Amino acid sequence: MIIDLISDTVTRPSIGMLEAMMNAKVGDDVFKMDPTVTALQEKAATMFGMEDALFFPSGTMANQTAIKLHTQPGDKLICDKYAHVYNYEGGGAAFNSGVTCKLIDGNRGMFSAAQLKEAVSGRSDIHVPYSRLVCIENTTNKGGGACWDFSELEKLQKITKENNLAFHLDGARLFNALVAKNETPQQYGRLFDTISICLSKGLGAPIGSILLASKEDIVKALRIRKLFGGAMRQVGFLAAAGIYALDNHIERLTEDHQKAKEIGDVLASVAYVTKVETIETNIIIFYVDEKIGTDNFIHRMKTKNILLTPMGEGRIRIVTHLDYTDEMHETLVKELKEFSK
Ligand SMILES: *Cc1c(COP(=O)(O)O)cnc(C)c1O
Repeated sequence: MIIDLISDTVTRPSIGMLEAMMNAKVGDDVFKMDPTVTALQEKAATMFGMEDALFFPSGTMANQTAIKLHTQPGDKLICDKYAHVYNYEGGGAAFNSGVTCKLIDGNRGMFSAAQLKEAVSGRSDIHVPYSRLVCIENTTNKGGGACWDFSELEKLQKITKENNLAFHLDGARLFNALVAKNETPQQYGRLFDTISICLSKGLGAPIGSILLASKEDIVKALRIRKLFGGAMRQVGFLAAAGIYALDNHIERLTEDHQKAKEIGDVLASVAYVTKVETIETNIIIFYVDEKIGTDNFIHRMKTKNILLTPMGEGRIRIVTHLDYTDEMHETLVKELKEFSK
């Protein structure tokens, strides 16, 4: 038994999901003739109360498309210093859109309205790049699955409106936040110009992301997705997995959150762990005693078939997910308790 906790992307499609995929009606989606893709896009748009949606092969491509459609080369994108769009998309904001990133020094990947106000520059000074777009992430990945306070997001939106800025949500794990904070997709649909969500993270689909936006922006996104090489053919087989995920795998995220909290409690109780960050969703970040060392700890857990990820600066990450069973949970808890220098 391998206990793979490196990410919530490691899940395999369940029998039910595979059946939905096998039974999907498909067509050529480049000609908008795949009924299952169309159904998924309509379902997502309705869920969020947004005008339209577009299916993507990855969250990175959905985010990069959003950045491209909101900006011109030379513009400024404002995000937290932990942002996925800045740190983990290969420098795509610069490569694809020619934009510069203004990084805010936030807390666990989140910042305040006051910090945003400070980062926005006016248009009168010819030296300064145009502020055009604000990107936020919920939950935050590098921030350890932290969730934004919705009232702070409302304040951010007000600032974006006052300054004529687009507002994008990288919602790769938005459903984890919705479930943890008892919020609705519609609340978020009202706040943002564009939202990306991942079907392939906690929701357990093998592939797929969705960009939500106005009809006008989706027309632009269609063209950008084509030029990025992301227009796909009989992709309804994958969209069917996405529909299945939205129907069956949202509420159960609370189970992942519960297990994460239990793991956090164990880590907080053992002497070799020096710090556990606050756990709000399915990501746990902790530090082990320097005498043990991060790499050594990860290596020793690997010899017990437990896979964890180093996150830099002494941080170790555990991510719970759909395929992390009760049996695995018991074994992990036991191994963590019994681990000794
Ligand atoms: C995973 C993730 C993405 C998208 O990643 P892909 O691997 O390209 O699907 C975007 N943002 C965040 C915060 C993520 O965790």
